[in-house]
Amino acid sequence: MDRAGEANSIYDELGVPPVINATGTKTRIGGSRIRTGAIDAMNRASESFVRLSDLQAEASARIAEITGAQAGYVTSGAAAGLLLGAAAALAGHDIQRMDRLPETAGIPDEIVMPRTHRTGYDHAFRATGATIVDVGTNDRHLGTGSTNVEPWEIEAAITAETAAIGYIEKPYTGPPLGVVTEIAHEHDIPVIVDAAAELPPTTNFSRFIDDGADLVVFSGGKAIRGPQTTGIVAGRKDLIQSMALQHLDMHAASEVWEPPERLIDLEEIDGVPRQGIGRPMKVGKEELVGLIVALESFLEEDQAETNRGWHERAVRISEELSKIEGIKTTVTVGNDVSVAPETIVRIDPDEAGISASELVRALRSENPRVFVGADRLDENVVTINPMCLEDGEPGYVLDRIWAHAGPESDEPVSERDVANTTG
Ligand SMILES: *Cc1c(COP(=O)(O)O)cnc(C)c1O
Repeated sequence: MDRAGEANSIYDELGVPPVINATGTKTRIGGSRIRTGAIDAMNRASESFVRLSDLQAEASARIAEITGAQAGYVTSGAAAGLLLGAAAALAGHDIQRMDRLPETAGIPDEIVMPRTHRTGYDHAFRATGATIVDVGTNDRHLGTGSTNVEPWEIEAAITAETAAIGYIEKPYTGPPLGVVTEIAHEHDIPVIVDAAAELPPTTNFSRFIDDGADLVVFSGGKAIRGPQTTGIVAGRKDLIQSMALQHLDMHAASEVWEPPERLIDLEEIDGVPRQGIGRPMKVGKEELVGLIVALESFLEEDQAETNRGWHERAVRISEELSKIEGIKTTVTVGNDVSVAPETIVRIDPDEAGISASELVRALRSENPRVFVGADRLDENVVTINPMCLEDGEPGYVLDRIWAHAGPESDEPVSERDVANTTG
């Protein structure tokens, strides 16, 4: 397989600098390495035709089984899942509403969200025509008080205009999902949960559904290692049906329109919907098949073993980098909070002769580009995530960091037997 940094990678061939990924499953540098089994399956999928609604119906049944939800759906990413989920909450089974989105006059179109759950991905909700209603304050985050967004504040924001509640699932988000879904369901409002990156553990597939989520969204291109342009939605059958109707090409002569019963109940629909708001986010047969196969492999994987490998690698990187003057390292525990353990690299610019931002910029401008985690530059911290590093790459990353931050006279680390440790 092509490796970044080897002269035969397809990116070298195209004259585009490849990337060594030491920052984890980040979309802007390609997400993750798709599983080879998934690639093989995609090749096979490309050889013949299939009705996409049939394939979605099969995926739906499998996702339902894995998650314990009534139904499932494959989207072109978790963000597309959020958009389609919001579209389902706005339009329900009303094909006239489907046709109007993102125009929402006369349609309840407010999505209530705890202020502390807002992210840039909310744009996916707003793209349906929905308006986000912020709830509560940011006291806890700012240290101006101990009070998080409170359940009563969410309840107070629910009106006749409310279409859904948006919730981002992280181990530190509150109020607890179960509390929020209880409030929502008293008012007959669905809760849409963004859990894009909350895998592993695979137990999370059912956890948020068990907590009452009406729709939960996962990314197919992160730890699952399916195609980058896939996402998984699990949840209520009626909402999934609405998503399918607003996503698939349904446009067909009504007298021969027979979508799969498992996915779409014709009794509930007044006609054949035209291409809906989700149509620009189409999922091809190859991606659908790739996701289904990747999902199977992900579930079969020995996660404890994978975690052990990540941890060993993170510790080794930590030990080597701590030898550099001006650098202090720690390793986070891989748990629900951070999917994989990471090496936290704290830089004293005076002693190391380079700041965290300078180091990140220098590493990124190389060929191959080296990407380390840069979410905490203001603290002079970079992070190294082992999830997307393969044999030889940890040593390469260490070499390059030494080249910029280490003493000039030192031997490259890879010659000290780091390169091929911890697979
Ligand atoms: C990655 C991520 C997304 C987007 O996922 P895609 O599958 O790339 O669309 C959305 N929300 C959160 C919290 C994420 O981490």
